[in-house]
Amino acid sequence: MTSTDPEHIAISKSKGVKIDWKDGHHSEYGLPYLRDKCPCATCTGAHGTPPREPQADKPQTSSPFQMYQPRLTMLSVDPVGNYAIRINWSDGHNTGIYSYDHLRAICQCAQCLKQ
Ligand SMILES: [Zn+2]
Ligand SMILES: [Zn+2]
Repeated sequence: MTSTDPEHIAISKSKGVKIDWKDGHHSEYGLPYLRDKCPCATCTGAHGTPPREPQADKPQTSSPFQMYQPRLTMLSVDPVGNYAIRINWSDGHNTGIYSYDHLRAICQCAQCLKQ
């Protein structure tokens, strides 16, 4: 059975989040990936609005007119109860509640990608 309780969470506001799970699993999430995986209604299109376009897969030099892109960072990360974290992004978005269930489900390690 998969444990979704984090043993330790390491947060780097400019790099991303690393989680050591109680079952010994280890997950790392880069910032653009986390931002794309925002579970809130706005980003997932749950309210009938078009979902936010993923940014992580786009080439960084897609347009010569986008020479400068502000670098995405996390302004703050707040615990929500004992089941989730809320990320306050530098692009002004802060309604995404990342439950540990969700974070575990989007783990990108080789082991999880195989499943
Ligand atoms: Zn969102
Ligand atoms: Zn994993």
